[in-house]
Amino acid sequence: MTRAEIVVDVAAIRRNVAVLRRFVKVPVMVVVKADGYGHGLAASARAAREAGAEWLGVASCQEALAVREAGDTGRVLAWLTVPSDDLTPLVRQGVDVTAYTVADLHRLAEVARETDLRPRVQLKVDTGLSRGGATMADWPDVCRAARELELAGLLKVTGVWSHFSSSEVPDDPANEEQEKVFREALDIAAEAGLRPEVRHLANSAAALLRPSSRFDLVRVGIASYGLDPAPGLTPELGLVPAMTVRADLALVKEVGAGASVSYNHTWTADRPTTLGLVPVGYAEGVLRSVGNRAEVLVDGVRRPVRGTICMDQFVVDLGGDHPVTGTDVVLWGPGTAGEPTAHDWAAAGETICYEIVTRIGGRMTRRHVDSDRSTTAGGEGQK
Ligand SMILES: *Cc1c(COP(=O)(O)O)cnc(C)c1O
Repeated sequence: MTRAEIVVDVAAIRRNVAVLRRFVKVPVMVVVKADGYGHGLAASARAAREAGAEWLGVASCQEALAVREAGDTGRVLAWLTVPSDDLTPLVRQGVDVTAYTVADLHRLAEVARETDLRPRVQLKVDTGLSRGGATMADWPDVCRAARELELAGLLKVTGVWSHFSSSEVPDDPANEEQEKVFREALDIAAEAGLRPEVRHLANSAAALLRPSSRFDLVRVGIASYGLDPAPGLTPELGLVPAMTVRADLALVKEVGAGASVSYNHTWTADRPTTLGLVPVGYAEGVLRSVGNRAEVLVDGVRRPVRGTICMDQFVVDLGGDHPVTGTDVVLWGPGTAGEPTAHDWAAAGETICYEIVTRIGGRMTRRHVDSDRSTTAGGEGQK
């Protein structure tokens, strides 16, 4: 135990990925971007592979190389390169790189000429998110250019893919529309002569809620970590949240009625009570917006946050009880011992669970445990 830490059970990630694979019945790409959604990139990647993940997905070049540095030799897709990135190491490491434009394809062809390697390229089409990817207006040109470079032996188009805007809202007509546009894009790619190994569209919510969007592969991020991408809508699969965030109680003290708590006195005790000091704050990624809204678990009892979240600390109301200092304070976890979940914190912070788990960090340490093997998982102990 340390003063404030993120404890990640890699067995939960393994189990979740295994459950997801059985449920979707197509290969899965476990997304380990953003340091494995705050769970640790290397440990998450390892757990995902142990559960049979056929692919890993990341946003940046640096993340793809970190996957390789962690010893992973399987299929990896990176999808957000920028002009200043050196793509050569990615190609050398056999990472699939996403191209959005003809210019991206030419950069990869240049790497091919310099290295005598054949880059593995996946083409991304924008089916309506209007974020990355080629618009449908540009898509035929991108496909044609890719096919020419493929025929010239300068690259290999391994995938065609896109991304949903609203998959956690299954009734949103945007889902149907994007899937329809994706099918058109696949036809255009096929007409250009492309024969990709994988065609993929679904993230966690779509993988679980929209079977028609599964194609050859689904990209599952949040669900791998045990969090529900569409709370209340997802089928009961028994996913287990892998992350627990805890801290030592730093101080317990009595205050009288009328005591006002933390910056700007946004809460005032209406009776004598005891206050507990928790040594993490917004510098650790505890959202400032959860002041007076979130709860924590102290000695088996839910305790409300009182007052504003500070940079290094916040205050909870212990209701007159006197737990000893050093007592475990659980901010969130799987919820099985009565503690709040990342979903509860998301509700308190008016955000989504993704932001809760990816933001937490700062001065906290991270520890990996393996509840199936009752050992501390190796590597990456410190953040
Ligand atoms: C982050 C991301 C995913 C994973 O989304 P989840 O909702 O966490 O499953 C999939 N695809 C792309 C392109 C992403 O950026």
